[in-house]
Amino acid sequence: MTAKEMSSATDLFIEEARAVSIAEAAERLGVAGLKPAGTGESVGPCPACGGTDRFGINTGKNAWNCRGSAEGGGRDAISLAAHLGGQDVKRRDGFLAACADVLGRPVPDGEPETDAARAEREAKLARVRAEWAAKAARQQREAGDFRERERAKARGKWRAGADLASTAGTAARRYLALRLGGHDLPALPCLRALGAEPYWHGDDEAGRSVAIHEGPAMVAPFVDPDGVVIGCHLTWIDLAAPKGRPVLRQGDEALPTKKMRGSKKGGLIPLVGFVLNGDRIVPEPGRTRMAIGEGIENTLAVGIAEGFRRDTLYAAAGDLGNLAGPADPKSGFAHPTLTRPDVNGKERVLRVQGPVPKPGQDPGDAVQAPDQVDEVLLIADGDSEPFATGAAMLRAKARLETDGRVVAIAWPPAGADFADLLTRHSEAA
Ligand SMILES: [Zn+2]
Repeated sequence: MTAKEMSSATDLFIEEARAVSIAEAAERLGVAGLKPAGTGESVGPCPACGGTDRFGINTGKNAWNCRGSAEGGGRDAISLAAHLGGQDVKRRDGFLAACADVLGRPVPDGEPETDAARAEREAKLARVRAEWAAKAARQQREAGDFRERERAKARGKWRAGADLASTAGTAARRYLALRLGGHDLPALPCLRALGAEPYWHGDDEAGRSVAIHEGPAMVAPFVDPDGVVIGCHLTWIDLAAPKGRPVLRQGDEALPTKKMRGSKKGGLIPLVGFVLNGDRIVPEPGRTRMAIGEGIENTLAVGIAEGFRRDTLYAAAGDLGNLAGPADPKSGFAHPTLTRPDVNGKERVLRVQGPVPKPGQDPGDAVQAPDQVDEVLLIADGDSEPFATGAAMLRAKARLETDGRVVAIAWPPAGADFADLLTRHSEAA
């Protein structure tokens, strides 16, 4: 072959490699263990540099990405092969080796990789892997330390709260009376009161957190299945304001008057039927039914309506996500009417998380029912978007309905929640 013929054979080879799709190359390069994550997308560990979810391919967009790659990703099979094989595409031999990996056959002109070059490439790849493993271990350690500190702060905040029955608990008691139509409540040993709790939102010019409000707050613990306090839930109180909570704004944006600190997922807020046992909060033996909703007020409203049954644990999940748990992406569906603008301002159908729980969940992904519970009443909020809430409640039901446990869902009338019903009733009376 002449040099010219050789180069045109190489050019053809390169052209051919350029035409290979990411999907085809991924299969040839042995990319495995990815999980579907939306349309045409799958994510998982990187075959080259490891991790758990840093790597992804999108066959629809013909793109790949890896947080362990200096380039972050690419839109062609050659760059993917180069990342997976540790090739430097800026060097001709590296580029051609990546093309060879993409096509699964050697470079035609016989520009074979020398033993020394191969050893160098493999050593580099091993170094990258080791660096990533060390970095991942460090990040995990730091995340663990950070989480433990946040949990300790949340625990401290709850411990610092005053008993609801004490004078310091007056605002919180009156708040609950206001929200629940003044009905009698049983002792609530897990709920506590803070006198002047700052509400932090945003930073000032020097980067310091700013308290935009300070006032009385009710504080509830989140406890894990072992009864350990892992977080806290705060409700700011303003008895002069509608619904008993202050109106907090940042510009046009209304801010939530409830916040959570520390960990929430996998924990529950114990309300009635739980006992403080040293450092732990545990369910009273013999209570085999659990009534659980998103919010504290709503769950207490149902307790009032059914006379706080002696066989029932009353608890809150804090929010719908912790109650429902993660969804199987395959069960997602298009909202029948709602749309949302995409990045280009074009209205797109809103995707709703489906009714099927994500398989293989960890107990820390969502609230669990204590072992002693064989019957669960899920309390729905009627004032949230009905399709998403409906799917989420079905997900919670399916998730908790294990080992013969019976789960039912209580739905309030459309547009209301159970606490609203109590106050409407008492206003009418
Ligand atoms: Zn990678």
